Amino acid sequence: VKDDRISRISSSIRVIPDFPKPGIMFQDITTMLLDPVAFKDTIDLFVERYREKNISVVAGVEARGFIFGPPIALAIGAKFVPMRKPNKLPGAVISEEYSLEYGTDKMEMHVGAVQTGERVLVVDDLIATGGTLVAAVKLLERVGADVVECACVIELSDLKGRDRLGGKPLFVLVSST
Ligand code: AMP
Repeated sequence: VKDDRISRISSSIRVIPDFPKPGIMFQDITTMLLDPVAFKDTIDLFVERYREKNISVVAGVEARGFIFGPPIALAIGAKFVPMRKPNKLPGAVISEEYSLEYGTDKMEMHVGAVQTGERVLVVDDLIATGGTLVAAVKLLERVGADVVECACVIELSDLKGRDRLGGKPLFVLVSST
């Protein structure tokens, strides 16, 4: 995106090398949350893009999709649905396994939270390999949802996660290498 607000957003994100393990450049969005202008600009940019798109569900991926998703959902008049780590949701769930660098993880969603044909926006803070977003899209499509787009604050473009989304549109504010 080209917008005057992007450079402030970009500089509000702190990069911490070697967290949580050697070689990872961790993009820490908690410093953005300390800058109310950068945080609001981030939400506003998403809201400006999605307000007229007939989206009825914002699905947020645990954990940082829970920070950005709800304010977007409220502003566009959509419901918010959490996509959680295993064994956190109390009701009946459907789940999707996905692979990590080492081993596998699982994502869960409450049965009945999203109806067939609903237009969904998937939100997370960052796309790296894309595995997390692919799992979220699969879960939603299994219940018949129409996933309109995925939205992240940051894309680590070298990892080419975008290519794993199988043509599903991805919107990001900041691209980082
Ligand atoms: P991936 O499934 O590889 O696209 O990883 C994306 C998920 O892992 C997101 O939920 C991110 O919050 C987290 N993540 C992966 N890499 C980083 C990173 N370098 N900095 C911050 N979060 C990351």
